[in-house]
Amino acid sequence: MTEWNLRSRSHACHQCAAAFADGERCFSCVAPFTAPVVQEIFAEKIAAQAAEGKAAKNPDYVRLDFCAGCWDARRALDWISLWNSPYAAPEPPAAEPLPRETAESLLRKLLEGDDLVENGPVIFVLAVMLERKKILLERSVRRGEDGAIVRVYEHRKSGEVMLIADPQLQVDQIPSVQQRIEALLAPPPPEPETAPAPEADPPDVAF
Ligand SMILES: [Zn+2]
Repeated sequence: MTEWNLRSRSHACHQCAAAFADGERCFSCVAPFTAPVVQEIFAEKIAAQAAEGKAAKNPDYVRLDFCAGCWDARRALDWISLWNSPYAAPEPPAAEPLPRETAESLLRKLLEGDDLVENGPVIFVLAVMLERKKILLERSVRRGEDGAIVRVYEHRKSGEVMLIADPQLQVDQIPSVQQRIEALLAPPPPEPETAPAPEADPPDVAF
């Protein structure tokens, strides 16, 4: 499978391939996969994928990162969302990953799942929770002509982009969504310390 690695902030400019330095201002944007600029920048990758004859499983949207020099020529394009932020060199991986499900790991899991519509309210409330904790930053809000709202969030540390559909919940719908989240985040019930011994068969009685 071709790895597009589209959600995370890249470590080099998509145009000139210069590696970002720690703290360098990096210009990020989101565009539909079919946009000419995306087709141009990923032309080699797209051609290679076609040459391999693999069934294309292209993303709907692509995130691009540019250095300041390359951004000047691109800024006027009709991006879905754009922002700039200082590039942060990746942190070394944590020594021991936490096995516990967190709001963040649950959100990632649901976003990668197949039930985006059914899980929409849970995904949205998790994103809002993480925004309050300053783990996610809301970069822009896109309103479709049909009234649908998509919020573009960026992970403050990793630079990952998450496009979250806003289900426009009513206030009285929120508590039940929060209860679902609490249940999903609850640790599994502890294993009983010792399994109860099976009832012993009554001894055979000899007549
Ligand atoms: Zn560049």
